[in-house]
Amino acid sequence: MKAILVTGGAGFIGKHFVKLLIEKDLYDPIIVYDQLTYASDLDYIKSLRSNKIIFIHGDINDHSKLEKVFKNNFIDKVVNFAAESHVDRSIHSSRSFFMTNVLGLQTLLEVSRANLNKDGLFIQISTDEVYGGSLSIDSPLNHEGSPLNPRNPYAASKASGDLLVKSYEHTYNFSSMIIRLTNNYGLHQNKEKLIPKVMDHILNHQPIPLYGDGNYYRNWLYVEDACQGIYDLMEKGHKQEIYNLVGSGLVSNVALVHDIIQSFNFHGHVYKGHIDFVNDRLGHDLVYLVDGRKVQGLIARELKPLKEGLTILIEDILNK
Ligand code: NAD
Repeated sequence: MKAILVTGGAGFIGKHFVKLLIEKDLYDPIIVYDQLTYASDLDYIKSLRSNKIIFIHGDINDHSKLEKVFKNNFIDKVVNFAAESHVDRSIHSSRSFFMTNVLGLQTLLEVSRANLNKDGLFIQISTDEVYGGSLSIDSPLNHEGSPLNPRNPYAASKASGDLLVKSYEHTYNFSSMIIRLTNNYGLHQNKEKLIPKVMDHILNHQPIPLYGDGNYYRNWLYVEDACQGIYDLMEKGHKQEIYNLVGSGLVSNVALVHDIIQSFNFHGHVYKGHIDFVNDRLGHDLVYLVDGRKVQGLIARELKPLKEGLTILIEDILNK
C-alpha cells in the first residue's frame, strides 16, 4: 500500500480526513505530522485506534525532521492542513501565521519536491478567503482563476501560500493541487470558531457575542463533506489545478445563531440568554462568493444541509 503524509493531521479538518483515510483503506501508513499547537487534538487521533497511523510530533519548518520522514517512507501523497487558521488571532498577532502558512509551507514544498514519489501529488488546503470579501451578496462569484484579494492577515498568509505552490508548479513542474474550502463546521471543532462557540454559550446560558449587526454571510461546509471532496479530488482531480469546494449555501451569522437557538429549543434545551452584538471585527469581510462548479463530475457532491449538520452537533453536545 502507498504511504500518505498528512501535515496538520491533528487539527480540525485534518483529523476527520485521517478518519476517512482509515475507512477508505487505500493508504498505509498514514503519517500524521503535527506540531500540536493549541488547535490540535491528538486524543482524537489516538481514539481512532488504527495501527496504520504513525504520529510524528514536528513543525513543518523543520527541514531535517521532514526529510527523515520522507527517507523512512515511500510517500505518495502529501496533504497539507498544517496552518494557523483563526482570523481573529491573525488580527491580534500575525507573525506565526506567516511562519507556518508561508515559511513552513515553503520548507514542506522543498522537502516534498526533492523526495515525493515521481507520480506523487502534493495537496495544499486553502480557503475561499484568498479571494477577499465581496461588497454585496449579489456580486459575481469567484472562480478558481479569479484574482486574489486577501483582506486580513490570515487570508494574506494563505494567498501567499497558494502563490508559492503555483510558483513550484511553474518552476519545477511540481505535481500539486490547491483546494479552497469555504467555512467548515462539524464535530470536535475548537470552541474559538463560530458554531462551537455559539453552541457552548447556549448550553451554558451565556450571552452570545456576535460581531457588528450579525449580517455577515458564510457558506458552511460540513467537515465530512469537505474531507470526502478532498479525497475524491486527490484521486480523480488533475494536478496543477485549483478547485473550490463550496458549502450548502449562504447564511448570515445572525440567522445562523437564531437557527441554532431554535434547534436547541426543539431538543428541549430552552436558551435563557441573549445575543450580544459586540464591536465589529477589524476589516470584517461581508461575504465570500465562490463558484463551486469546476468540481462537478469529479467528486460525489451530496452535501449535508446545514440544518442536518447542526442537529448532529446539538445532539452530540446535549448527550455529553
Ligand atoms: P486547525 O487550526 O484546526 O488545525 C491546524 C493544525 O495544524 C493543528 O493541529 C496544528 O497543531 C497544526 N500546525 C500548526 N502549525 C504547524 C506547524 N508549523 N507544523 C506542523 N503542524 C502545525 O485548522 P483547520 O480548521 O483544520 O484547517 C486546516 C486547513 O484548512 C488550514 O490550512 C485552513 O487554512 C484551511 N481552511 C479551514 C477552514 C475552516 O473553516 N476550518 C476553511 C477553509 C480553509
